[in-house]
Amino acid sequence: MAQDQTELLYLNDAARRECTTTVLACHPVSQLAEEDRSLAKSVAPDSFALITRETVFYPQGGGQPSDTGVIRLAGDNADSTFAVLLVRKTLEGAVLHLGEFRALPFADGRLVSQSVDCARRDYHSRLHTAGHVIGLAMRLLAPVLGERKKVKANHAPGQACMEFEGLLYNEHKAVIEEKVNELVGLKLPVTTEWWDESRIQGADLNMVEGLQLGRNGQARIALIGDLDANPCGGTHVEHTGLTGFITIRKISRQKGVSKVSYEVPVVI
Ligand SMILES: [Zn+2]
Repeated sequence: MAQDQTELLYLNDAARRECTTTVLACHPVSQLAEEDRSLAKSVAPDSFALITRETVFYPQGGGQPSDTGVIRLAGDNADSTFAVLLVRKTLEGAVLHLGEFRALPFADGRLVSQSVDCARRDYHSRLHTAGHVIGLAMRLLAPVLGERKKVKANHAPGQACMEFEGLLYNEHKAVIEEKVNELVGLKLPVTTEWWDESRIQGADLNMVEGLQLGRNGQARIALIGDLDANPCGGTHVEHTGLTGFITIRKISRQKGVSKVSYEVPVVI
């Protein structure tokens, strides 16, 4: 692995919410290179960017918002905390934890403990899995609604939607919601695997979130039982039953593409 890449612990263990790791760099946002500074536009200009060797924090991407949480100096007093407000990944693969120190910034080489806001992560994971469930439901409904190629996904609270080619109307809401929640009721396992290129090319995948190759050149694939496989870098709940009831809020259309907006309970 390149030196400037952060190891993404959530990729292989989305249930993990804490880790102890080492500070590699800690700079005021104002001192970041321009392309990295542009990732920090929405945080206060006097914020800091903290880079660690590994991270349990999910960086914004793939239609899923970033985690928030806290990073503390390991074994130190509680005042030495860094509030993580936004997490972004640079083009080189370093994860920037953007936020504010309660006391002094951490020195390079210090051991720190990371802890993710679990309620927020759980909600984001439910929304993300629900998006995949809707994609699967649309494939299963092809005999009724026709083949609908997925073109876009957004798993953010309040804006969550899946977009499909072709025209769908509000009259289709009930049939989609029924199929989606049938899949929720089945409590199908949601797992991730690393596939090499030859296996990806032989499979029938919906490429909506783009193919992200990890270390070793393999792609991370999220599976719903043995019914659905999608390239995906996001976090998921362990089975479809954990999304809670998926509400299809509305269906809208623009330029031949239909947007199926959805929501899951904030807490289940
Ligand atoms: Zn995904």
